[in-house]
Amino acid sequence: MRYSALSILKQAFSGNRGWKPAWREPEPKPHYDVVIVGGGGHGLSTAYYLAKEHGITNVAVIEKGYIGAGNVGRNTTIIRSNYLLEGNEPFYELSMKLWEGLEQDFNYNAMVSQRGIVNLFHSDGQRDAYARRGNAMMIHGVDAQLLDREQVRRMMPYLNFDHARFPILGGLYQARAGTARHDAVAWGYARGADSRGVDIIQHCEVTGIRRENGRVVGVETTKGFIGCNKLALAAAGNTTTVGRMADLELPIETHVLQAFVSEGLKPMIDNVITYGAGHFYISQSDKGGLVFGADIDYYSSYAQRGNLATVEHTIEEGVSLIPGLSRTRVLRSWGGVMDMSMDGSPIIDRTPIDNLYLNCGWCYGGFKATPASGFCFAHLIARNESHNVARFLRLDRFERGFPIDEGGKGPQPNLH
Ligand SMILES: Cc1cc2nc3c(=O)[nH]c(=O)nc-3n(C[C@H](O)[C@H](O)[C@H](O)COP(=O)(O)OP(=O)(O)OC[C@H]3O[C@@H](n4cnc5c(N)ncnc54)[C@H](O)[C@@H]3O)c2cc1C
Repeated sequence: MRYSALSILKQAFSGNRGWKPAWREPEPKPHYDVVIVGGGGHGLSTAYYLAKEHGITNVAVIEKGYIGAGNVGRNTTIIRSNYLLEGNEPFYELSMKLWEGLEQDFNYNAMVSQRGIVNLFHSDGQRDAYARRGNAMMIHGVDAQLLDREQVRRMMPYLNFDHARFPILGGLYQARAGTARHDAVAWGYARGADSRGVDIIQHCEVTGIRRENGRVVGVETTKGFIGCNKLALAAAGNTTTVGRMADLELPIETHVLQAFVSEGLKPMIDNVITYGAGHFYISQSDKGGLVFGADIDYYSSYAQRGNLATVEHTIEEGVSLIPGLSRTRVLRSWGGVMDMSMDGSPIIDRTPIDNLYLNCGWCYGGFKATPASGFCFAHLIARNESHNVARFLRLDRFERGFPIDEGGKGPQPNLH
């Protein structure tokens, strides 16, 4: 069923009785060409592009919870492609271009809003680093603009300019960046994949990976054994536990990241802002809530909840950037588990096991990558070779000495 203004009108005249569920609830088949573990944004977009771009439709996405319960429905919804390094920039720009046509492509309203992002800088050294990053973006054909203090003040007069410990000197602006409604992205991809024949199996946990003669033959699940020709892992924060089922020791640590939303306010912040003197980011949802977050909780954990020290730290940073924030009430906070890689960049690659494919290491930034991640992972699974823009995102880059350390922080996952 295609969604359109006409279909809304038709349904309105027939008492809205003709709407169908957005995807089916099938029982698993005994065997698939491709099984994807993880029904988050990346697993669902991979299934969608496998079907749409490569005609591979005998696919199952196995999800232990329900669609949207993982990080894809927990993030702060920021999308952008403002990267410095060769290994990252073309990949994230492909994602940005896919975001720009996504809603037409999968016929679903994902509320993609290109409201712009400003990365604030607070020192001369930081200005130089952002100028370099902006230049690298423009060399790759991506929009970037370096703003001075007065330009930033005109755009965001409510920031703390005059009494700040770390005064704002300017910002790096990407106008095409913005936000998208996170769970609608999962629903849109799920619906698009399902309508092309992909089975989405919810409430089904993968508990083992069965191998014979060095190849994967299928997965043990809470709904029984499911055979497959190819197995693709897209389990985000649970990558290490799922990887261990195939004896993979991965360069990933799992950490909690928290997010917060305030009570609904009148329109106040019309873009995305990141604070350069700490690590804080904020935007305003279309419902009016201020959506914000900061650093990860620094210890490893698989629990989808964080601790109060990070709550305090986040609010301190927010109030030092926007003093008026101290008078708003926080409505909710929650946590998600992040697959932090050793260099802060993702992995989309084959594994030492011939027909086992890996998609992980998304750290804080995997939501914006959802379209390109699925597009490139589907390409890898279908053709057995990396897509050109994902060719640097290899599993063996750590042992070969080619990390993609965007933040220049070294091999410490909790610092990326
Ligand atoms: C608080 C927070 C804020 C964030 N903010 C941003 C942001 O603003 N911008 C941005 O780009 N990124 C952001 N991120 C990161 C982004 O959300 C993640 O990197 C991305 O969503 C991870 O990919 P995913 O959507 O596939 O993950 P998930 O949605 O977590 O999908 C993985 C799925 O695998 C399933 N699974 C795991 N183990 C098994 C198993 N054994 N069997 C079956 N299923 C299994 C899980 O249940 C889960 O649904 C944020 C993350 C958090 C938590």
